[in-house]
Amino acid sequence: MERTEHPVDACDVVVVGAGIVGAAVAARLARQGMQVAVLEAQQVAGGATGRSAGLLLTGMPGHYSWAVQSFGRETARALWELSVEGRERLVETATRLGVPVERTGSLALAVTEEEAEALRASAELLREDGFDAWFGKTDPLRRGFRAALRSPDDGVVDAADLTRALLASAPVVVHTGTEVQALEAEGADIRVWAYRRTVRCGAVVLSTGGYAPTLEPALSRWVNPGQALWVVARPDESPQALLCYADYGYEYARSLPDGSLLLGAWRYPRRPSSSEDSPDPDTALREGLSRFIRRYFPAVEGNVLRRQSGTMGCTPDGVPVVGALAHLPGVYFALGLGGWGLSWAFVVAERLVEMMVEGASAGLLDAERETCRA
Ligand SMILES: Cc1cc2nc3c(=O)[nH]c(=O)nc-3n(C[C@H](O)[C@H](O)[C@H](O)COP(=O)(O)OP(=O)(O)OC[C@H]3O[C@@H](n4cnc5c(N)ncnc54)[C@H](O)[C@@H]3O)c2cc1C
Repeated sequence: MERTEHPVDACDVVVVGAGIVGAAVAARLARQGMQVAVLEAQQVAGGATGRSAGLLLTGMPGHYSWAVQSFGRETARALWELSVEGRERLVETATRLGVPVERTGSLALAVTEEEAEALRASAELLREDGFDAWFGKTDPLRRGFRAALRSPDDGVVDAADLTRALLASAPVVVHTGTEVQALEAEGADIRVWAYRRTVRCGAVVLSTGGYAPTLEPALSRWVNPGQALWVVARPDESPQALLCYADYGYEYARSLPDGSLLLGAWRYPRRPSSSEDSPDPDTALREGLSRFIRRYFPAVEGNVLRRQSGTMGCTPDGVPVVGALAHLPGVYFALGLGGWGLSWAFVVAERLVEMMVEGASAGLLDAERETCRA
């Protein structure tokens, strides 16, 4: 490929992507004394992070009973522990950096009798495994849901503010509007070809979210783009303070400080469980959100103030991946956080740095795990 030469910068590590993962990785590496440059195609938090609805939720969509069934009891419990660890790391970091986190607790709500049973089973399994969970066979919101599971430690955070604060807190050079176009081995180093910039470095971290396969096609083995969409509406009725998700975690609602209501949905390229079966994820997403609003929040229908949508990386088993490219030594990746990515970001970043610096295994997040084979 013909490439335009630009003056070559040099540093120890280039982090590609300034979302919450890239920011957490860059800040951690810089604190260990490395010279770090972050190259971001758009602006800081311009991808999924800045579009997120801010829900800080423990675990994974599909409910705990689904995780136990899919991964086995021990692994499901270890995954939940990792997500709790990630959530707490985020809260500690946000608090240290002066970014507010509101711990409202969350409600998982059942839309079918089958899901009500999954929530009941999940609450039982969660309590047996040492997690806080309260189950009720009624709808605390009185909107027609079949059952509810409350997790007391979930909350909300402004993920874009946290990402900006993280990058500002460490001696990291950030270049925005700088899309990385190619990576090339150059002796023991790597040359990073970007828009109007070339950087020579010892290692590269790809934290490029749902766009990962565009830069490095080999990553499509692990990461494919999932879609998310939310709207903000002003309710006609007296506003109700809430933070909830329904339909196995694929639809959600959150009240905002000004009394308006954020209502959203997301779709994984392959859903663990679904109340509908559409071959086209975009259509499924829009229809799913409309149906959710019509059925449970009819007062806000047609009352939309603004909308947001975006793309995030999703893995085949729904668990984030940390790994290294076999064909390009020195290139690492931390990807696939999915629609509940915020509570995973800090453990993903930590595992990636431990892998890079100490050669440690990423454990359950390791890209070579059995459940993540394409
Ligand atoms: C609309 C929406 C709502 C969501 N709501 C929630 C929520 O409420 N709670 C929750 O936990 N999760 C939510 N998520 C998911 C969550 O936002 C993501 O899991 C998380 O932010 C992923 O962070 P990341 O750093 O991996 O990726 P991103 O934030 O997407 O960052 C990747 C960055 O890489 C950049 N990039 C890509 N390719 C290149 C390249 N070649 N060169 C340079 N830069 C590049 C992109 O511009 C982007 O800024 C939501 C996602 C969306 C889209």
